[in-house]
Amino acid sequence: MPCIQKKERAERQKYIEENRRDIDPFDGVTDPVEIILLHHVRRSPEPLVKYLPFKGELEEVYKTLSEFDEARLIDFSIKKAEKGELEYIENICLELTAFREPNFSKLHKYMLREKIYYPSMLFRNASKEVGKELILRLGLEPDNINLLLLSLAWIENDDVLKEFASWKIKLPDWSTQLYIHPSDYSKEAGWITSANEEKQTLYFDKCLPILSNKPNESVKNIGSLTESDSRCEWCGQRLTNLLEIDISNNVFDFLGFKGSKVKLATCEVCSCYSNGLFIDFDTSGNVAWSRYNKKPEYLPDDSDERERLPKKCLEVSSSFRSPYYAANEFLPTTFSQIGGMPAWIQDFVYPDCPECTGTMKFIAQISNDEIEKYREGMYYVHICSSCMIASTSYQQT
Ligand SMILES: [Zn+2]
Ligand SMILES: [Zn+2]
Repeated sequence: MPCIQKKERAERQKYIEENRRDIDPFDGVTDPVEIILLHHVRRSPEPLVKYLPFKGELEEVYKTLSEFDEARLIDFSIKKAEKGELEYIENICLELTAFREPNFSKLHKYMLREKIYYPSMLFRNASKEVGKELILRLGLEPDNINLLLLSLAWIENDDVLKEFASWKIKLPDWSTQLYIHPSDYSKEAGWITSANEEKQTLYFDKCLPILSNKPNESVKNIGSLTESDSRCEWCGQRLTNLLEIDISNNVFDFLGFKGSKVKLATCEVCSCYSNGLFIDFDTSGNVAWSRYNKKPEYLPDDSDERERLPKKCLEVSSSFRSPYYAANEFLPTTFSQIGGMPAWIQDFVYPDCPECTGTMKFIAQISNDEIEKYREGMYYVHICSSCMIASTSYQQT
């Protein structure tokens, strides 16, 4: 019997392969709204049909939308949510706020009415009233506190800043069941405040993508993934410069360095096993193992046999993009970048500088699957510009 079944299965597979036809749902479609909707539409699987994916870049389609198109997409997402299909808010509206500066007042009204607080980034640029309402709800919706705080972080106006600062002085009653301090939730949107309301942004508001396919215009004299002369003091292997940044090029003025070169180096292997691997750097291209590194309890003993990352395969584009472009791991874009906001695969982690204890600033991320197919995970680099220390951490699903 099993033999017959196996034969039948093979015959069926052969029939499918011979009779399957390709359908390009985007063929002849020019309306950008239509393209975005077609990209996100749920199709039930049909064995004899293969739907071809969109051939262009979805992020480029978003750039061509008019305000009217934007409103059509928001209305569509709300209508679907009213029927219980929340995924259109979760993907189309998220893409709108990552790639554009949309007017979400109608969406916020709907989300507040239905108590929808996810994805939190949708609250970026929300009005003062929306902020006030979310603050009020902290005391009223104990089950939603986590999501309310994450959403509030994105609103980032003076009222919200005051509120987050006040929790540093007095812990609110509703905060007892949280795992982290309520004021630390602001890191979700890349900022922190002191008790006297001094705000510090934890990312650079300019962002240059680092691409694996040669960008049309790339920045000269940038090295990505080059071998360093320094060695890892844990495994003995050579460090890798995730980036060598020519800071004399004024495209990098936004980083605030003065000098010739900054190298962001790490151990490709050991940084994946430590909470943050620290490297001292200067603005003349020197790097050195930091005295603050604490050896993790577990490190693999085969570092010398592991396949190293391919070198020099990424290039920095010279076209800036919005800092929010890759701020969520589910966005249809590329993730390797200098500046901008990080895309956390797990929870946000901004390391503390081991020297001055200040929170370190995110400077770059390199996505492994953009270096080479079938790799995964992301390297994150943070810096303290006062102490000239860089920290590399790594996350994967
Ligand atoms: Zn190492
Ligand atoms: Zn420091």
